[in-house]
Amino acid sequence: MQVITDICSLRQAINGLKKNGQVISLVPTMGCFHEGHLALMRYARGISDVLVISIFVNPTQFGPNEDFKAYPRNLKRDIELASEVGVDLIFAPEPEEMYPIDFLTFVSVEKLTKYLCGKSRPTHFRGVCTVVLKLFNICQPDIAVFGEKDWQQLVIIKQMVRDLNVPVQIKSYPIVRESDGLAMSSRNVYLTPEERKQASGIYQGLCLAQKLVARGVREGLALKNRLIDFYARNIPLGKIDYLELVHPYRLEPVTEVKDKTLLAVAMYVGQARLIDNILLEP
Ligand code: AMP
Repeated sequence: MQVITDICSLRQAINGLKKNGQVISLVPTMGCFHEGHLALMRYARGISDVLVISIFVNPTQFGPNEDFKAYPRNLKRDIELASEVGVDLIFAPEPEEMYPIDFLTFVSVEKLTKYLCGKSRPTHFRGVCTVVLKLFNICQPDIAVFGEKDWQQLVIIKQMVRDLNVPVQIKSYPIVRESDGLAMSSRNVYLTPEERKQASGIYQGLCLAQKLVARGVREGLALKNRLIDFYARNIPLGKIDYLELVHPYRLEPVTEVKDKTLLAVAMYVGQARLIDNILLEP
């Protein structure tokens, strides 16, 4: 396994692999690996000849008062874990390599980026799309794998790839959870033991909504009120950022669960902003 930090060497390595006609997959990450990241890598490993991952805490996707500086980093451990799951090549650039001092170009996907996380993180997806398109151009993968935990990100990247004719196939992988249901996240390390205990309620709430839908509750407001009440009782340390029912691909708000509907939640628990979602199927 090679660890490369500069774009030029990475391109050379990729060009060699491309000449041999190998199928290249890319798993972009911000590092500090947990089982969710590793599951994406194992999946990508199984559908390609060469597995490339990137480890880059992307400054442009963090807002001015967000946790860019505090974001957990552990490159040494990440390299060991990546090697165990059979990664062929790690691209781990420094911010200056990706964003030289004269950098001026950003990629903005309209509309889809205004919903859900876009409301409280107005510049987040611009940073995500910019770095992901750069990574696609640098690594030239045939396949790229993203997690369904970041559902909105996945929808937006698929849109960007379609709109800009990027020659890459986007694959997704289901949410990997802790044994009590909490979606794995690098940000879970911010939680105190009490916050961590309560945070498992986020997914329990989503499952409650699924049960209510199965019992015939379809009205969006009724579902949301039941959930707000559940969260107030079970996660007193939490503060809901949003709790929304949306069309799973257009991301527009939905008032009644008639077809497949995404229930998405973002919640502040202590220092952590946690997100989760579930696809409701009436
Ligand atoms: P991150 O390092 O948090 O930017 O995540 C890198 C990739 O892993 C993204 O495509 C995420 O959606 C995905 N991911 C993160 N956590 C999980 C999880 N618990 N289950 C599935 N995918 C995940």
